[in-house]
Amino acid sequence: MPEPLHIVHFPHPVLRTRSRPVELLDENLRRTVRGMFELMYAARGIGLAANQVGLPFRFFILNLTADPEQPEHEQVFINPEIVKRHSSDEAEEGCLSLPGLYAPVQRAKRIRTKSYDLEGNLVETEADGLLARAIQHEIDHLDGKLFIDYLGLLTRAKIAGRLRQFEKDYAAAQSSGLLAATESLQAYVDEIRKGQGVPEPVLPPRLPATVERPSESRQELS
Ligand code: ZN
Repeated sequence: MPEPLHIVHFPHPVLRTRSRPVELLDENLRRTVRGMFELMYAARGIGLAANQVGLPFRFFILNLTADPEQPEHEQVFINPEIVKRHSSDEAEEGCLSLPGLYAPVQRAKRIRTKSYDLEGNLVETEADGLLARAIQHEIDHLDGKLFIDYLGLLTRAKIAGRLRQFEKDYAAAQSSGLLAATESLQAYVDEIRKGQGVPEPVLPPRLPATVERPSESRQELS
């Protein structure tokens, strides 16, 4: 049941699925990456992991400018690994799979990563600040983790109502037939996960080339 590529929201089960490594750098992967950038820009995010578009594979994209007019800042991380972490830092995060929800999260301040690009080159990245935070947030997605998993009891209590609302919206989409039952969603994810490569994407209809920039400084991390 291939659907046009779209961003899935909490509590979709793919967000809790550990992704498998990418083994094929093919046209399906490249077209999927392109579609993900378009979805990310339309949602005014700076990053998007494959799980967030329903694909249990280890790759994510970033553009810290969130600006489709600055494609030179686009980055693709395939099979990423953090090889070094240094010191820690707290800052507010958001997530395109939990839109509108923000909370402070403790992360390593500086990291070094190894990943592959779309041409199969091994890339080492030294990151700090927002880049380091975004990479850690995205790698968590690939491991089935969400930023809300890090929150203390007090913050959790504060956002409990919002999470319940996401659950209600998800259940409502299922009852109205817009979204399949959780078991079928999970079965579909498991089936893709067994395949060798990223399935041929059904790309979303072409989005406008220019997207209004966020008016506030807050941005969804991914
Ligand atoms: Zn996210």
